[in-house]
Amino acid sequence: MTEQANPAKAQKIQKINGVRGMNDLLPADAAQWTHLEHVLRDLTRAYGYEFLRTPIVEATAVFQRGIGEVTDIVEKEMYSFEDRLNGEQLTLRPEGTAAVVRAVVENNLLYEGPKRLWYTGPMFRHERPQRGRYRQFHQFGIEAMGFAGPDIDAEIILMGQRLWDELGLKGVRLEINSLGQAPERAEHRAALVTYFEKSKDQLDEDSQRRLLTNPLRILDSKNPAMQELIEGAPKLLDFLGEESLKHFEAVQTLLKANNIPCKINPRLVRGLDYYNLTVFEWITEELGAQGTIAGGGRYDPLIERMGGKAAPACGWAMGMERVLELMKVSGSLPEAPAQCDAFVIHQGGETLTSAMIIAERLRNAGIDAILFCPPDGQAASFKSQMKKADASGAAYAVIIGPDELAKNEAQLKDLRSTGEQKAVALDSVVEAVIDAIVGATE
Ligand code: ATP
Ligand code: MG
Repeated sequence: MTEQANPAKAQKIQKINGVRGMNDLLPADAAQWTHLEHVLRDLTRAYGYEFLRTPIVEATAVFQRGIGEVTDIVEKEMYSFEDRLNGEQLTLRPEGTAAVVRAVVENNLLYEGPKRLWYTGPMFRHERPQRGRYRQFHQFGIEAMGFAGPDIDAEIILMGQRLWDELGLKGVRLEINSLGQAPERAEHRAALVTYFEKSKDQLDEDSQRRLLTNPLRILDSKNPAMQELIEGAPKLLDFLGEESLKHFEAVQTLLKANNIPCKINPRLVRGLDYYNLTVFEWITEELGAQGTIAGGGRYDPLIERMGGKAAPACGWAMGMERVLELMKVSGSLPEAPAQCDAFVIHQGGETLTSAMIIAERLRNAGIDAILFCPPDGQAASFKSQMKKADASGAAYAVIIGPDELAKNEAQLKDLRSTGEQKAVALDSVVEAVIDAIVGATE
């Protein structure tokens, strides 16, 4: 039967699903995110980093110029569109750094000197959704702008280590490399092209294209068939001049002095165009293929490239979903805290009026309180309300029925430890709940 011939079916309302690879944060997981966000806030405060928020949408040029045309992100991962109303070319931000630099330049934030900044929020990349890889995901990132020395490279790495320690993550290892400066990379690039051209037939399609556009990225390839070839390629480290080597060694010395072990990975080039000198990644073996939980490095040329006055900078970004997943695997996720302190039960009518007033008084005193609201707008039995109170995680139930109200009283019931129940004067409910909570924590 066609839908037209079956009006009942035609009227069935279809549900609309979320976009593939873009997830809801459901209440059951909210406490974990809040915990991570608190730790991140404390971390940034401990190192004197200031918060900054940029819009989710930027002019496409911000990322084209900031990230570089020949990168996975700009080539194939960006959500770009034309604003139909005015023809502007816009992009959902795929990462934070280019946007932060845009904001810093636009608002002249480096006018008075260097800045330590941090940001967090959703990022968007059109990738194949899988574990640890989403189309909307969340990053936390820091950017230290206006600092040239290896001290700040080391500082931002120390922040990473402190973060893993705070979160109880084990087995996160640091890999580090130096990309040197543009002239050094140019020399290396020429050597790479000569090397790979000799074995062009062994390169996959992506790499053949990159041979002409960005041969350094060939080193990044995960294609198993090319690993041996890549292993034998000329190493950028061998092309670094004295200054670059000095910077790289100084970073390593500072890390060593702070007991941060790191492995030099000459193949670590990072996906983005804007890096120079130090680059690094934090990697775990616990998450399968998506094992990089954070990465970053120095990007001295970027601020000038985005139209600002030249200033050195470095930073890193972390994938929050991957870190939370690792916390889950490591068993270091905190228990969800109780939803509230008190659950207020009533029988409608005047008892509702009193219950609502009492609930407000509890909140005035800083006590989290849930007032029972019947789903059907009618009254509900004490028994079903007590079940709700138990499920709420509340420590105490405050019960105001007609009998209690007639005596100007409420019943206070301990839900979590003793199960004790006692009558208290309505005017003293707040004090009684405070006494009970203080008593229970002593
Ligand atoms: P990958 O090599 O895994 O694609 P990337 O080099 O593209 O990572 P960056 O641009 O350095 O990643 O972003 C920093 C961090 O953000 C990554 O280390 C990762 O933890 C996280 N991340 C990147 N892309 C995604 C994604 N699609 N879904 C979830 N997290 C992501
Ligand atoms: Mg990627």
